Amino acid sequence: MNKHFGELHVLQDINLEVAHGEVLVVIGPSGSGKSTLCRAINRLETVDSGTIRIDGVDLPAEGRALAQLRSDVGMVFQSFNLFAHKTVLQNVTLGPIKVRGLKVADANEEAMALLDRVGVANQADKLPAQLSGGQQQRVAIARALAMHPKVMLFDEPTSALDPEMITEVLDVMVQLAKEGMTMVVVTHEMGFARKAADRVVFMADGQIVEEATPEEFFTNPRSERAQDFLSKIL
Ligand code: ATP
Ligand code: MG
Repeated sequence: MNKHFGELHVLQDINLEVAHGEVLVVIGPSGSGKSTLCRAINRLETVDSGTIRIDGVDLPAEGRALAQLRSDVGMVFQSFNLFAHKTVLQNVTLGPIKVRGLKVADANEEAMALLDRVGVANQADKLPAQLSGGQQQRVAIARALAMHPKVMLFDEPTSALDPEMITEVLDVMVQLAKEGMTMVVVTHEMGFARKAADRVVFMADGQIVEEATPEEFFTNPRSERAQDFLSKIL
């Protein structure tokens, strides 16, 4: 897959395959193309060449088929992106009612179970602004899960959080990984990578520079770019 922003070749011959149930951590310096890659995977960003295939099905570039297949990809961003004027519960039920065609009562029941799973069921009737950042991010995860995605994409989900809230979000992600969810996670949280990742991909300047197990990558990075990067963040 290739993508340019004008002169900038932001994704250069990126070729990635994620297996069912695999947890892939993407790591790399600012501006290396990690967010663009995430956005390209569910076509929030167009690509110049290449295909995106989910569970054997090509993701079309546009149209109704795209809207449907896009719900196979759950996305959680750095900023929480909840609907500010809807309650926590409504945030989670909106997609299932509109896109999956669930009845309100069924959507509510499923949403409450998901909110319980991420530990915020007692916040269901509040507005997002009344929650802490960590709670909001867990609602965002529940909202994504409510669409029954085949793969979950996380783009630095904890980087906007205060330190004490990071663990509560990472714990939910570790749990998801253990339950067998297929995940692509952009994060610099080494603890998460060590606990949950099957594979680490290091990106720099739009390229995949290194691919390794978390143990290999963090203890013995092969490329100079990765060594240099790790010396700055660890
Ligand atoms: P960070 O760690 O800071 O989030 P990143 O690895 O996610 O960085 P991207 O956001 O993917 O990096 O950006 C990669 C490059 O593409 C950067 O040089 C950025 O300035 C550029 N870029 C991103 N979005 C656009 C856009 N819409 N138009 C033009 N250039 C863009
Ligand atoms: Mg980014």
